[in-house]
Amino acid sequence: IDLPSLNPTDLLDGQHLQSSSSVPAITAADVAQAISNREITLAYQPKVGCISGELMGFEALARWNHPEYGFIAPDVFIAIAEQNHLIDDLTLLVFEQALPWFNQFCQQQRQNPTTAQANQLICSINISAVSLRNLKLFHQIEALCVSHGVKLHSIMLELTETGAMDDPVASLDILTRLRMKGFQLSIDDFGTGFSSMLQLVRMPFSEVKVDKSFVMTAQQSRESRLVIQAIIELAHSLDMKVIAEGIEDYATLQFLQQQGCDKAQGFFIGRPVPADEIDQWLQQRKLALEQQRLKALESL
Ligand code: C2E
Ligand code: MG
Ligand code: MG
Ligand code: MG
Repeated sequence: IDLPSLNPTDLLDGQHLQSSSSVPAITAADVAQAISNREITLAYQPKVGCISGELMGFEALARWNHPEYGFIAPDVFIAIAEQNHLIDDLTLLVFEQALPWFNQFCQQQRQNPTTAQANQLICSINISAVSLRNLKLFHQIEALCVSHGVKLHSIMLELTETGAMDDPVASLDILTRLRMKGFQLSIDDFGTGFSSMLQLVRMPFSEVKVDKSFVMTAQQSRESRLVIQAIIELAHSLDMKVIAEGIEDYATLQFLQQQGCDKAQGFFIGRPVPADEIDQWLQQRKLALEQQRLKALESL
């Protein structure tokens, strides 16, 4: 088999390699086995205050390093899991790993005098649209949170716009129940399905996540900037917070700050990393923020 060569820079962020035609087709049986063998692990990507730069929490992202084929893109194995009734097991595996990690991280931050609000940190988990009608899954998730001592309001469920808005009446019912239980809800990849802009008015989301396709083109495209501005205005008028994903440079971060975006996420701030690399990110981040402050003082 012609395996793709491993590029060390691709491994740095816990990211996958580009899917390549030389990677053999992954089957449902492969994914099922990966779940039961716990080969699927997590990378955590920080979410920070857009202006303050303060750590608000992390998004857990599934990673699969196949023993033979190397890193498989989540888009690939998540889709297979969704199509083969494996996604709920995968979601539970994600919670089983994220909850103890998050609990420990918060405890550690509480002892860190430079982090003020450890009890306000939030752990975001992606939920597939196909799971939305499965009440049993959410009961299982709730039970896991309780047994790990994680409060439901510290958990943010990220649902993609296209999935959540496919059947808005059914979604509204379950989303309202989840919100009433205490879960926070984020609408992911927002802006890619325009029909739903108005439906957002009735939906109990705490956060709207601007799709990275707009954020990554904000510098070149006036249309992207207009869409971002419109989403921020709409979300704020509905009392929802806005987060931008896919921020890859300082100029884009500045633009979002000027537009009043609340939270920020992207490679420029922090790549998704395995749990044992988060301390290193926190250290680097502290230095970077200090340097920024000094620069700002100098320019006064
Ligand atoms: P998503 O939830 O929209 O996650 C954002 C994706 O953008 C992630 O890709 C992340 O690594 C990537 N990203 C973050 N910042 C940047 C940036 O600055 N530039 C660029 N180019 N990319 C950035 P990833 O990890 O490959 O995940 C892809 C998608 O797979 C996710 O999109 C999500 O829909 C799905 N996914 C990942 N983990 C899970 C999971 O545990 N459960 C479910 N249901 N879906 C998951
Ligand atoms: Mg997400
Ligand atoms: Mg997204
Ligand atoms: Mg996405």
